[in-house]
Amino acid sequence: MILNKILSTIKQIRDLEPQIFLDYDGTLVPIINDPEKSYADSELFYILDYFFRKYETFVVTGRSLNEIRGFIGNYNIIALHGGIYYINGNIIEVYNYQKYVNVCNNIYDNRDEYLREFPNLRVYNKNGGILFHMGNIKNSDERRGLLKKVKYLGARVNMDTYMGKDILELRIPYINKGEAIKRIRNTSRPAIIIGDDITDEEAFMENADAITIKVGNETTVAKYSINFELVRELLIDIINIK
Ligand SMILES: [Mg+2]
Repeated sequence: MILNKILSTIKQIRDLEPQIFLDYDGTLVPIINDPEKSYADSELFYILDYFFRKYETFVVTGRSLNEIRGFIGNYNIIALHGGIYYINGNIIEVYNYQKYVNVCNNIYDNRDEYLREFPNLRVYNKNGGILFHMGNIKNSDERRGLLKKVKYLGARVNMDTYMGKDILELRIPYINKGEAIKRIRNTSRPAIIIGDDITDEEAFMENADAITIKVGNETTVAKYSINFELVRELLIDIINIK
Protein backbone atom coordinates (compact mmCIF):
# COMPACT_ATOMS: atom_id res chain seq x y z
CA MET A 1 0.00 0.00 0.00
CA ILE A 2 0.92 3.59 -0.54
CA LEU A 3 2.43 4.29 2.90
CA ASN A 4 4.78 1.31 2.58
CA LYS A 5 5.87 2.51 -0.82
CA ILE A 6 6.64 6.01 0.49
CA LEU A 7 8.37 4.62 3.57
CA SER A 8 10.68 2.40 1.57
CA THR A 9 11.70 5.42 -0.56
CA ILE A 10 12.34 7.45 2.57
CA LYS A 11 14.39 4.63 4.12
CA GLN A 12 16.77 4.82 1.18
CA ILE A 13 17.57 8.50 1.76
CA ARG A 14 17.22 8.61 5.52
CA ASP A 15 20.96 8.59 6.23
CA LEU A 16 21.60 11.46 3.79
CA GLU A 17 20.09 13.98 6.23
CA PRO A 18 16.96 14.92 4.30
CA GLN A 19 15.47 18.36 4.81
CA ILE A 20 11.76 18.19 5.50
CA PHE A 21 9.16 20.76 4.46
CA LEU A 22 5.66 20.40 5.87
CA ASP A 23 2.64 22.49 4.94
CA TYR A 24 0.35 23.29 7.87
CA ASP A 25 -3.37 23.71 7.03
CA GLY A 26 -4.86 20.71 5.31
CA THR A 27 -1.65 18.74 5.90
CA LEU A 28 -0.77 18.78 9.60
CA VAL A 29 -4.16 20.08 10.80
CA PRO A 30 -7.61 19.92 9.18
CA ILE A 31 -8.97 22.95 7.35
CA ILE A 32 -11.70 24.52 9.46
CA ASN A 33 -14.04 27.46 8.90
CA ASP A 34 -12.47 29.43 11.77
CA PRO A 35 -8.87 29.77 10.62
CA GLU A 36 -7.85 31.52 13.84
CA LYS A 37 -8.49 28.31 15.81
CA SER A 38 -6.14 25.91 14.02
CA TYR A 39 -4.00 25.14 17.05
CA ALA A 40 -1.65 22.20 17.11
CA ASP A 41 -2.83 19.33 19.34
CA SER A 42 -0.67 17.13 21.56
CA GLU A 43 -0.17 14.43 18.92
CA LEU A 44 1.04 17.03 16.44
CA PHE A 45 3.42 18.50 19.02
CA TYR A 46 4.82 15.02 19.61
CA ILE A 47 5.40 14.59 15.87
CA LEU A 48 6.89 18.07 15.40
CA ASP A 49 9.18 17.69 18.40
CA TYR A 50 10.63 14.52 16.98
CA PHE A 51 11.05 15.90 13.49
CA PHE A 52 12.71 19.10 14.58
CA ARG A 53 15.13 17.15 16.76
CA LYS A 54 15.98 14.43 14.22
CA TYR A 55 15.78 16.24 10.88
CA GLU A 56 16.16 19.76 9.59
CA THR A 57 12.45 20.51 9.37
CA PHE A 58 10.45 23.55 8.27
CA VAL A 59 6.75 24.29 8.44
CA VAL A 60 5.91 26.05 5.18
CA THR A 61 2.67 28.02 5.25
CA GLY A 62 0.74 30.88 3.75
CA ARG A 63 -0.13 32.13 7.21
CA SER A 64 1.49 35.11 8.85
CA LEU A 65 4.52 34.41 11.00
CA ASN A 66 2.79 35.55 14.19
CA GLU A 67 -0.21 33.37 13.55
CA ILE A 68 1.73 30.19 12.85
CA ARG A 69 4.02 30.79 15.80
CA GLY A 70 0.88 31.16 17.90
CA PHE A 71 -0.19 27.69 16.77
CA ILE A 72 3.07 25.72 16.89
CA GLY A 73 5.63 27.82 18.75
CA ASN A 74 9.21 28.50 17.78
CA TYR A 75 10.03 25.81 15.24
CA ASN A 76 11.61 26.69 11.89
CA ILE A 77 8.98 28.36 9.74
CA ILE A 78 8.60 29.68 6.22
CA ALA A 79 5.55 31.97 6.47
CA LEU A 80 3.52 34.04 3.99
CA HIS A 81 4.43 31.56 1.20
CA GLY A 82 8.07 32.62 1.57
CA GLY A 83 7.61 36.31 2.37
CA ILE A 84 9.18 35.89 5.78
CA TYR A 85 11.30 33.18 7.44
CA TYR A 86 11.88 32.23 11.04
CA ILE A 87 14.98 30.08 11.17
CA ASN A 88 16.92 29.07 14.28
CA GLY A 89 15.35 32.01 16.10
CA ASN A 90 16.15 34.61 13.42
CA ILE A 91 13.54 36.45 11.37
CA ILE A 92 14.45 36.98 7.72
CA GLU A 93 12.24 39.20 5.57
CA VAL A 94 12.23 39.28 1.78
CA TYR A 95 13.15 42.48 0.00
CA ASN A 96 10.38 45.11 0.23
CA TYR A 97 8.55 43.15 2.93
CA GLN A 98 7.90 46.25 5.07
CA LYS A 99 6.42 48.09 2.12
CA TYR A 100 3.79 45.36 1.78
CA VAL A 101 3.13 45.37 5.51
CA ASN A 102 2.22 49.05 5.18
CA VAL A 103 0.05 48.41 2.12
CA CYS A 104 -1.79 45.65 3.99
CA ASN A 105 -2.27 47.76 7.11
CA ASN A 106 -3.82 50.42 4.93
CA ILE A 107 -6.21 47.97 3.24
CA TYR A 108 -7.13 46.48 6.60
CA ASP A 109 -7.83 49.89 8.15
CA ASN A 110 -10.24 50.53 5.29
CA ARG A 111 -11.87 47.09 5.34
CA ASP A 112 -15.33 48.60 6.02
CA GLU A 113 -15.41 49.44 2.35
CA TYR A 114 -15.66 45.68 1.68
CA LEU A 115 -17.64 44.68 4.75
CA ARG A 116 -20.43 47.12 3.91
CA GLU A 117 -20.94 45.47 0.54
CA PHE A 118 -20.24 41.89 1.72
CA PRO A 119 -21.50 41.63 5.34
CA ASN A 120 -20.57 37.92 5.65
CA LEU A 121 -17.02 38.51 4.55
CA ARG A 122 -14.19 38.20 7.05
CA VAL A 123 -10.98 40.14 6.45
CA TYR A 124 -7.68 39.20 8.10
CA ASN A 125 -4.48 41.22 8.09
CA LYS A 126 -1.54 38.83 7.64
CA ASN A 127 1.12 41.54 7.92
CA GLY A 128 2.36 41.26 4.37
CA GLY A 129 -0.81 39.68 2.99
CA ILE A 130 -4.57 40.21 3.21
CA LEU A 131 -6.99 37.30 3.50
CA PHE A 132 -10.60 37.68 2.38
CA HIS A 133 -12.44 34.70 3.88
CA MET A 134 -15.59 33.64 2.02
CA GLY A 135 -16.51 30.66 4.20
CA ASN A 136 -19.71 32.41 5.28
CA ILE A 137 -20.59 33.78 1.84
CA LYS A 138 -22.83 31.22 0.18
CA ASN A 139 -24.17 33.29 -2.72
CA SER A 140 -22.07 32.75 -5.87
CA ASP A 141 -22.94 36.17 -7.34
CA GLU A 142 -21.61 37.76 -4.19
CA ARG A 143 -18.44 35.69 -4.43
CA ARG A 144 -17.92 36.76 -8.03
CA GLY A 145 -18.49 40.39 -7.11
CA LEU A 146 -15.93 40.15 -4.36
CA LEU A 147 -13.39 38.46 -6.64
CA LYS A 148 -13.71 41.29 -9.14
CA LYS A 149 -13.18 43.86 -6.42
CA VAL A 150 -10.19 42.09 -4.88
CA LYS A 151 -8.53 41.57 -8.27
CA TYR A 152 -8.89 45.27 -8.97
CA LEU A 153 -7.45 46.07 -5.57
CA GLY A 154 -4.52 43.69 -6.14
CA ALA A 155 -3.65 45.32 -9.44
CA ARG A 156 -3.84 48.76 -7.84
CA VAL A 157 -1.43 47.92 -4.98
CA ASN A 158 0.80 45.65 -7.11
CA MET A 159 0.08 42.44 -5.21
CA ASP A 160 -0.86 39.00 -6.55
CA THR A 161 -4.46 37.87 -6.19
CA TYR A 162 -4.80 34.23 -5.25
CA MET A 163 -7.96 32.10 -5.11
CA GLY A 164 -8.13 29.11 -2.79
CA LYS A 165 -10.76 27.04 -1.04
CA ASP A 166 -13.20 29.67 0.31
CA ILE A 167 -10.53 32.34 0.29
CA LEU A 168 -9.16 35.19 -1.76
CA GLU A 169 -5.78 36.50 -0.87
CA LEU A 170 -3.46 39.35 -1.75
CA ARG A 171 0.16 38.28 -1.69
CA ILE A 172 3.57 39.81 -2.09
CA PRO A 173 4.38 39.37 -5.80
CA TYR A 174 7.08 37.02 -7.16
CA ILE A 175 6.99 34.84 -4.07
CA ASN A 176 5.93 31.23 -3.83
CA LYS A 177 6.64 28.17 -1.75
CA GLY A 178 8.73 26.61 -4.51
CA GLU A 179 11.22 29.48 -4.60
CA ALA A 180 11.22 29.71 -0.82
CA ILE A 181 12.08 26.03 -0.35
CA LYS A 182 14.77 26.23 -3.03
CA ARG A 183 16.32 29.13 -1.16
CA ILE A 184 16.50 27.10 2.03
CA ARG A 185 17.58 23.83 0.51
CA ASN A 186 21.01 22.38 0.63
CA THR A 187 20.95 20.79 -2.81
CA SER A 188 23.45 18.13 -1.89
CA ARG A 189 20.85 16.71 0.49
CA PRO A 190 17.52 15.08 -0.33
CA ALA A 191 14.21 16.69 0.61
CA ILE A 192 10.74 15.53 1.57
CA ILE A 193 7.89 17.94 0.82
CA ILE A 194 4.28 17.38 1.92
CA GLY A 195 1.35 19.69 1.14
CA ASP A 196 -2.28 19.79 0.07
CA ASP A 197 -2.86 23.04 -1.78
CA ILE A 198 -2.28 24.57 -5.21
CA THR A 199 0.51 26.61 -3.60
CA ASP A 200 2.26 23.34 -2.74
CA GLU A 201 2.29 22.35 -6.41
CA GLU A 202 4.88 25.08 -6.96
CA ALA A 203 6.93 23.55 -4.18
CA PHE A 204 6.71 20.12 -5.87
CA MET A 205 7.46 21.49 -9.32
CA GLU A 206 10.48 23.56 -8.33
CA ASN A 207 11.96 20.66 -6.36
CA ALA A 208 11.52 17.80 -8.77
CA ASP A 209 14.32 15.77 -7.17
CA ALA A 210 12.55 15.74 -3.77
CA ILE A 211 10.22 13.09 -2.41
CA THR A 212 7.01 15.04 -2.99
CA ILE A 213 3.73 14.03 -1.37
CA LYS A 214 0.39 15.59 -2.24
CA VAL A 215 -2.35 15.45 0.38
CA GLY A 216 -5.74 14.87 -1.26
CA ASN A 217 -6.80 13.36 -4.57
CA GLU A 218 -6.68 16.37 -6.89
CA THR A 219 -4.34 16.27 -9.88
CA THR A 220 -0.74 16.85 -8.82
CA VAL A 221 2.85 16.90 -10.02
CA ALA A 222 3.92 15.25 -6.76
CA LYS A 223 5.35 11.73 -6.85
CA TYR A 224 2.86 10.41 -4.31
CA SER A 225 -0.66 11.26 -3.12
CA ILE A 226 -2.16 10.36 0.23
CA ASN A 227 -5.35 11.32 2.05
CA PHE A 228 -5.26 13.77 4.91
CA GLU A 229 -6.12 10.97 7.36
CA LEU A 230 -2.85 9.21 6.47
CA VAL A 231 -0.45 12.14 6.93
CA ARG A 232 0.12 11.72 10.64
CA GLU A 233 0.26 7.97 10.24
CA LEU A 234 3.04 8.45 7.70
CA LEU A 235 4.92 10.88 9.95
CA ILE A 236 4.64 8.50 12.91
CA ASP A 237 5.83 5.64 10.69
CA ILE A 238 8.86 7.77 9.74
CA ILE A 239 9.52 8.31 13.45
CA ASN A 240 9.43 4.55 13.97
CA ILE A 241 11.72 3.60 11.08
CA LYS A 242 14.46 1.48 12.51
MG1 LIG B 1 -2.31 23.62 3.03
